[in-house]
Amino acid sequence: PPASSQAVWRRGGRFLACHACCRVSSRAYIGLGANLGADLGATLTQAALHLAALPQTQVVALSSLWRSAPVDAEGPDFVNAVAALDTELAPMALLDALQAIELAHGRERPYRHAPRTLDLDLLLYGDVVLDTARLTLPHPRLGERAFVLRPLMEIAPELAHLARGHDWASQRIERLGPLSL
Ligand code: AMP
Repeated sequence: PPASSQAVWRRGGRFLACHACCRVSSRAYIGLGANLGADLGATLTQAALHLAALPQTQVVALSSLWRSAPVDAEGPDFVNAVAALDTELAPMALLDALQAIELAHGRERPYRHAPRTLDLDLLLYGDVVLDTARLTLPHPRLGERAFVLRPLMEIAPELAHLARGHDWASQRIERLGPLSL
């Protein structure tokens, strides 16, 4: 990328990405969760279809559907899944898109930890490390939650190192079945 571009980042002396002027595809992982609604599996299927319809984006893998006990949230059990995307959207544009999908599913934020019709978390975006007011990458609680790690390990076993060092194995979670589009 041109050295003058403000969008060029350097880390460890090498260029990471330039999403302003180049077509760079990155592998991103999205955590999907819902615990409010009549058919939570159908909600996650709809959300995965929304992800597949994002511009400059392909869904490359979908985990199974998992049922999990609420962690840092209230209400009934969640249904969770993880999707792997290849996307040319920049991290913040992808977060905007995820929040638009949440809103389309009637997501409200009446108070912290409220039950949610749909929660979409940007878990990982390539090897980007970011800490801004709106977006932290990798997702700060990624390695602590069975409802993220179990589905993530299904579709990205090479990321198993992320699951080490936390006591997540005792969290209640069970596999429900495939998430198919
Ligand atoms: P939640 O209520 O759990 O959906 O949290 C959403 C809030 O977390 C939003 O205000 C986001 O801007 C912020 N946030 C920070 N990092 C991330 C991330 N990696 N993925 C999704 N939301 C994030």
